[in-house]
Amino acid sequence: MPRKNVKVEASQKSASKEALPKKKLKNPIVLQNPRGMKDILPGDQGYWTQVRRVLESSYQKYGFQRIDIPVLEYANLFSRSIGEDTDIMDKEVYSFKTKGGDEVALRPEFTAGIARSYIQHGMNVLPKPVKLFSIGQAYRYDRPQEGRYREFWQANFDIFGEEDSILDAEVMQLAYRVLGNLKLKDIQFQVNSIGCTDCRKSYLSLLVSYFKSKNKKLCKDCKRRLGTNPLRILDCKEDKCIQVSSGAPQTVDHLCEDCHEHFKSLLEYLDELEIPYSINPSLVRGLDYYSRTVFEIWSLAEGKRLSLGGGGRYDKLIENLGGEPTPSIGFGLGLDRIVMEMKRTNAKQYEAPKPRIFLAQLGKLAKRKSLKLFADLEKNGILVAESFGRGGLKSQLRTANKLGVDITLIVGQKEALDETVIVKNMVSGTQETVAKEKLLPLIKKIMKSKLVVLKYNNK
Ligand code: AMP
Repeated sequence: MPRKNVKVEASQKSASKEALPKKKLKNPIVLQNPRGMKDILPGDQGYWTQVRRVLESSYQKYGFQRIDIPVLEYANLFSRSIGEDTDIMDKEVYSFKTKGGDEVALRPEFTAGIARSYIQHGMNVLPKPVKLFSIGQAYRYDRPQEGRYREFWQANFDIFGEEDSILDAEVMQLAYRVLGNLKLKDIQFQVNSIGCTDCRKSYLSLLVSYFKSKNKKLCKDCKRRLGTNPLRILDCKEDKCIQVSSGAPQTVDHLCEDCHEHFKSLLEYLDELEIPYSINPSLVRGLDYYSRTVFEIWSLAEGKRLSLGGGGRYDKLIENLGGEPTPSIGFGLGLDRIVMEMKRTNAKQYEAPKPRIFLAQLGKLAKRKSLKLFADLEKNGILVAESFGRGGLKSQLRTANKLGVDITLIVGQKEALDETVIVKNMVSGTQETVAKEKLLPLIKKIMKSKLVVLKYNNK
């Protein structure tokens, strides 16, 4: 279509637009994140990349394999594994019916979905232990506040098929290493053992009779929990319930011999590893699938307590979901809170390597050629900065100077025709014209030369 016609059409369009009466929008677009959700902008990505890099190298060193699962699962997977009478299932899970009538839910945590995948894909036949690492978003419809979002990120580590408490110690050591590598200090583990289903039975009857005797002092939710999930009362954040719980029988005093031995040896490992921990009898964790070891990782910086992660054993989970008996342990790290802590303490961020070469071009033909040259250099692993959108050489050189590059490559009309490039050494100020095929060896030589390296280091 000739250019003229296009212009006419465009102007007609805008004229007719003006003539239209202004309509009130029914559903004005809200240019804001949904409550409790956030964008992670480029300015913060240095922290997030640092976290991902540390996690990436840690999970590999500890023998984990990566797994990615959908954020959506059938809703009853969570009610069956996390438990009906838990805060997560009661109030926080994002569940809905699909157009096809399926009840689905956004994952509030990872382990249930990973366990589903373990069974679905017959991972029970793999050599044990099966160690799986995952990272991504999780969703909980909670009241948003600092460090508590409705969409948040977790890194999740699960080990299937081992009962030995050395695995419990290993995952705690791994979590401690990750946080240490991110330069987070004042970390303390809170540990407890809530026993196995056998020893928990007699403990629960003791607990129920204790709480029944204090029934009047409990909050409304805990009065209900007394009949449905008494262990959760120990986890209640209401002041009056905390007070009642402080006198309650403790799980660690009522462990069967095996669970007692398991917990004792875990503590011996932690002592050996010099991992700071504190036994916390009221730590039961808000999910039903846990057994024996439960733990949380707290940052105690500035006298505050911030939970950066938590986990524990779930020896019966796979079996309860229909798989074969598979003792397992795992934990999740809250990445939003870790980044929050890194920012607060000015911890190291990942810095992308900076280009040491700038590519400038002058004229139409040169512009065309320089995009190709950029790709050739990139293919050879050479990082190049450019400002292709600019035409003037002066402004491009200004940019090159600002970036502090060592070399500027200049392609003008003449060079584009001759298949040459001007190589300007920004340190010595000298420049030479070289044939394109000799460019790569020359760049490599200059980059290696002491002069350039020295200037680079002195900046
Ligand atoms: P949990 O299994 O609930 O203890 O979660 C493990 C970790 O995930 C916590 O220690 C937090 O660091 C993080 N986390 C849990 N819920 C949220 C949330 N709503 N917003 C941000 N981080 C969260």
